[in-house]
Amino acid sequence: MSTYQRIVILTGAGLSAESGLGTFRDKDGLWSKYDLMEVATPEGFARNPEKVHAFYNLRRNMHANVVPNAAHRALARLEQNYSGEVWIVTQNIDELHESAGSHCLIHMHGELYKALCAHCGDRRPWRDELSTDLVCPSCKAIGGMRPDVVWFGEMPYQMDGIVERLAACDLFISIGTSGTVYPAADFVMDARQAGAHTVELNLEPSEGASLFAEAHHGKATEIVPTFVDRLLNSSQSAHPFENRDT
Ligand code: NAD
Repeated sequence: MSTYQRIVILTGAGLSAESGLGTFRDKDGLWSKYDLMEVATPEGFARNPEKVHAFYNLRRNMHANVVPNAAHRALARLEQNYSGEVWIVTQNIDELHESAGSHCLIHMHGELYKALCAHCGDRRPWRDELSTDLVCPSCKAIGGMRPDVVWFGEMPYQMDGIVERLAACDLFISIGTSGTVYPAADFVMDARQAGAHTVELNLEPSEGASLFAEAHHGKATEIVPTFVDRLLNSSQSAHPFENRDT
């Protein structure tokens, strides 16, 4: 029998960094060239939809050629081989978890390869460019097609399901996220209240690092496979990870 029965894993941009996708905080990354309020808010979209479409069309093109890295693959291996339940809640809008083979996955910030009609709420897979002259395939309105991503000021997806899983988890792992975007930054507190063991796997201590019972710092492609292997081998051990930081 495994030590932990229900694992929730929160992932962020740092997980996909070594696949070639910049993080939000990269100094020379895509995000540093755009004003967040212009490209990632409903108000920005209302003011200048062409600019928002250009930003996400660019990201869609950039994402087209990336592949999952060793950390994504390790998490898929965990889901496939662990005896307990493993859920990934990702803030990433890329599809690298799916490509790696993860199935128990919640995209709380939406998905880059989906489109949402602002008029009727229709949501569908969308791999082509988006533009202001598109007609919604469902309600036939013109101009309302937008990326199906959760912008700042909007409610993340599937929050009820996430809160339920956090309340029931006995291990919470946060990977490659700075702990600066809410409500995801609060998940560690929800997990602690549920009595779960909490672990941070990140390049460096995040803003909320002190909230975690255990932390390992380094590149995701190195520390995540190691952690997953130890977790898969840990079923006989009550406390598989004795070091707070390695
Ligand atoms: P963030 O950029 O704020 O933080 C990324 C974290 O990852 C940092 O703490 C950094 O130290 C760490 N990191 C960087 N490289 C790493 C590596 N190789 N291994 C391990 N950790 C590494 O990103 P966030 O916390 O996810 O939140 C910002 C928002 O930006 C989210 O809403 C997210 O949706 C969005 N975003 C998504 C993508 C994507 O879909 N791939 C990319 C950029 C930003």
